[in-house]
Amino acid sequence: MKQLPADTVRLLSSSQVVTSVVSVVKELMENSLDAGASSVDVKLENFGLDRTEVRDNGCGIKAADAPVMAVRHFTSKISSHEDLECLETYGFRGEALGSICAVAEVTVTTKTEEEDVSTQYTLDSSGGIVSQRPSHLGGGTSVSVAKLFGKLPVRRQFFSSVRKRKEEVRKVQDLLMAFAIIKPELRLTLAHNKVRTCCFKMIPKF
Ligand code: ADP
Ligand code: MG
Repeated sequence: MKQLPADTVRLLSSSQVVTSVVSVVKELMENSLDAGASSVDVKLENFGLDRTEVRDNGCGIKAADAPVMAVRHFTSKISSHEDLECLETYGFRGEALGSICAVAEVTVTTKTEEEDVSTQYTLDSSGGIVSQRPSHLGGGTSVSVAKLFGKLPVRRQFFSSVRKRKEEVRKVQDLLMAFAIIKPELRLTLAHNKVRTCCFKMIPKF
């Protein structure tokens, strides 16, 4: 027997956390809601396999936190397991962004209220920053996930049939519908190949 190299272990374990386009959208949506967003726009290209982008108007990520935002097991949501007793966020394991970085090409553009301009960070497969540049995005965060499962032929193969790919977009629509129902005040849009397919803004009727 041989021990697997660290980057292979990271790739394989990340592909257990991120299993599909809908799981990417779910993780990114949850981060947007945890960031207090009232508006989220989801864009898919080629059923999300070429690119999935989730943009929000939440609190953004401070420049000081950027170097660790996508390093696995770094989180701003809990400090120790005792905090699990009073958890109020979707996320707490610090696993999603890091896992997505292992199975796709990720850029994060973000701006907090305190900062004047947004910064676009290009991340590597371990979640570290490869490069950064100023950007024109307003407040909030936009995460772009390109070439999903480019390095995992087995997962990519799963989406080779048109039926499977269409099913994936339907699952994303169902997921967003579920978020729209539990958060009626949230503005939520979905576009596939630049065509808007869903727009939710549910005002509760009382
Ligand atoms: P978790 O949600 O479990 O903390 P993630 O890997 O999903 O782990 O995210 C890591 C950290 O990056 C979060 O704790 C949060 O501080 C920051 N973050 C990620 N996405 C966003 C976002 N859309 N807006 C603000 N902060 C974010
Ligand atoms: Mg999360």
